[in-house]
Amino acid sequence: MPFKDIKGQTRAIEYFKRAVGNKRLGHAFIFTGPEGVGKRATALALAQALNCSQSAEGEACGECPACRKITQGGHPDVRSIEPEGQFLKIDQMREQLQRDAILKPMEGSTKLYILDSAERLTLEAANSLLKLLEEPPPAVILVLITTQPFALLETIRSRCQTVRFRPLETKVLSSWLRERLACPADQAQALAMQSGGRPAKALRLADENTQALRNQVIGKLQKLGPRDWPEAAVQWGEHRAELPEMLAVLLSWFRDLLILSSRASRELLMNSDRLTELEGALLDESTESLAEKCQAVLTAIQQMKKNINTQLLLENLFMRLGAKAGRN
Ligand SMILES: [Zn+2]
Repeated sequence: MPFKDIKGQTRAIEYFKRAVGNKRLGHAFIFTGPEGVGKRATALALAQALNCSQSAEGEACGECPACRKITQGGHPDVRSIEPEGQFLKIDQMREQLQRDAILKPMEGSTKLYILDSAERLTLEAANSLLKLLEEPPPAVILVLITTQPFALLETIRSRCQTVRFRPLETKVLSSWLRERLACPADQAQALAMQSGGRPAKALRLADENTQALRNQVIGKLQKLGPRDWPEAAVQWGEHRAELPEMLAVLLSWFRDLLILSSRASRELLMNSDRLTELEGALLDESTESLAEKCQAVLTAIQQMKKNINTQLLLENLFMRLGAKAGRN
């Protein structure tokens, strides 16, 4: 996908187009920002701009054989190095990077290496990468992708140019989603909000299975009476794999109720496509109890990350949610 097809990230893209067009591009970059905002897509678009047979003013055509190969992941001069297991290891740096980087490009004019999850470089691997950064081979560009730039060695950071990627504005993302998914405006708006401005995440959320899960969670919430919560905790416990997603839906639901209850702007709603159900649920709830429920779900999400016993965590959560149900 050439630069023109990447949504948002205008600053980064303008910069790269200019630098490629003027042939004044650095040799090492750190792309940082949240998951799913276009870091990898931009690295690939940069590889295309550098290797396209018909590139003009720093932009690739997107259609020549080189562009197509890069999109499909089959260009010999564009390589992705990803963690093997937990880490990016020294052997990977030697075999997939150092040995390869000293060879001339095979088909294009510039080799580009993407190091995914660069915060997971082992110390040895980072030191070996550092040698390459100190004496960069000609016609080689390195792109380190990370959500945690501060986990990288200072010596690496200082030898790379950092490019920040930001979440997209809701308006920009929802109009893109409407076009891309051919979906109604309220659904696109809801996806844009739920994804926190991250296009890749929004597309994942739009997936049928994820939507089915969300509908199930919201559907069940509607039906829960004060006495049904302990039973619900047991049922949820049987869905360990989907639990993070289910808790995210739960949080978005109570957060939306809190927004409605406190009369904040409806533009902030994450489930704007379910406004009727939200308004129905709001009748039984006070702002204070909703704030407490949001906090209860947040606590559960944090505990989940710390691997606390799932059943216990759900029992606690649902007790807090159930205890307040119906009280005004
Ligand atoms: Zn091309």
